[in-house]
Amino acid sequence: MEILAKIEAERLELYHLAQAFSVSDATRIRRQDEADRAVVTITRNGKVFTGKALFGEGGDGKAGKNASAGLAFARAAEMAGGVIPPYGTLTGVRPVKVALRYVNDEKEEAVRLLTSRFLVAPDKASLLYDLAEIEKREAKRDEVMLYVSVPFCPTRCRYCSFISSAAPKHLALIPAYLELLKRDLALTGEALSRQGRKISAVYVGGGTPGVLTERQLKELTDSIEKNFGKGIPEYTVELGRPDTVTKEKLAVLAAAGVDRVCINPQTTRNDVLRQNGRAHTAQDFFRAMEEARAFPFRAINCDLIAGLDGDGAEGFLASVKDVLSLQPENVTIHALCRKKAAADQTDRVEGFPGLAPAMEKAHKLCMEAGLFPYYLYRQKMAVAGLENLGFAKAGTLSRYNLCMMEDLCHVAACGAGAIGKVIHPSGGKIRRFPRQKYPFEYLAEPERIPALIDAFSNALEERA
Ligand code: SF4
Repeated sequence: MEILAKIEAERLELYHLAQAFSVSDATRIRRQDEADRAVVTITRNGKVFTGKALFGEGGDGKAGKNASAGLAFARAAEMAGGVIPPYGTLTGVRPVKVALRYVNDEKEEAVRLLTSRFLVAPDKASLLYDLAEIEKREAKRDEVMLYVSVPFCPTRCRYCSFISSAAPKHLALIPAYLELLKRDLALTGEALSRQGRKISAVYVGGGTPGVLTERQLKELTDSIEKNFGKGIPEYTVELGRPDTVTKEKLAVLAAAGVDRVCINPQTTRNDVLRQNGRAHTAQDFFRAMEEARAFPFRAINCDLIAGLDGDGAEGFLASVKDVLSLQPENVTIHALCRKKAAADQTDRVEGFPGLAPAMEKAHKLCMEAGLFPYYLYRQKMAVAGLENLGFAKAGTLSRYNLCMMEDLCHVAACGAGAIGKVIHPSGGKIRRFPRQKYPFEYLAEPERIPALIDAFSNALEERA
């Protein structure tokens, strides 16, 4: 596909729109604005379709101009046989950020603007507005949260698009990785205390941090306590795969002050788990949940995925009900994210028949169980253009998830694949500080870590 536009950012946006509107088999897409309007032409199946939108239609300023370009694209795409996705022309990971522009308006007006300027479906526009309100309430902006990366998994899920190592030769790196991670935590802790900063949340994620042994988890949580203090207001460990969960590991976490754990079944259908390369069973999940309930965690989160290979609407909803029957405080429902290679070869994938309505139903079931949606993000290759939505019972939401996802906090990040972030006080500019991507790179270049921490803490000081 040939994509023509004035600048790279516009070309990239047209590429993402073509994917979202199911016209990525077009031979040519071109944006060539006129003085007062955006103009996009799409050449598909030998025919040329032209969409236009006056600049004022998308709102004022540069953002309004870009919204108008999206409208022009959508008009051409519709004529070319494309499909308007649920979030319309919002192709970004964080659509709530766009809704934040309208959060001071009455809800009705905000929904009208989101639907007319971005073609967001009314129910999604209403959801975005509600989430923007929560975000406005929770945002503090000058707080630092800590992300600790454990990028190892017992086996690799077929659909995995994360940086995670599962092969035995990679798992053998864990002891050395942990040693270096502890050094990374110590240096990061020192850098923050030199600035008199305390962290307001920790998130140990992966991968599957549950792959660590009980002793290794103790070493890791001891190191976090030593370098960042006791009584951290929010402390999550994403244990991940239920088969890695043991009573002993849960006891270590509870004793360390961890107040939120994630035990993720993804589905409770054993045939679907097998087909997707997850080497655990639904029974492992039920057992792990029962064991976790013996400890006073503030919240247990369970992740589910809609659109897994071999699943269907009925099986997916049965899994949602199974999970809700255990009364978790948090549930996160993801739309399966296709790997980029598959997405490049095919057009938008709808997942199993009836996936989008099943997802709606799943959200409803969560709300009926007393959980409310509080954070949302989208992945560009998600099935049916759907979202990942986090639910929580009152008083149990994860501020880390909310603030990190919406760039409302600085993030100090330790470990391979972790990305630190420093947010400008205006909330607009974000500087990112990635560690080495893979464990073997991280281990091969330990001498780079102090310089990476310095760069992060200097940026944090400048912003203070
Ligand atoms: S558990 Fe998560 S990170 Fe690990 S292989 Fe599966 S999808 Fe990837």
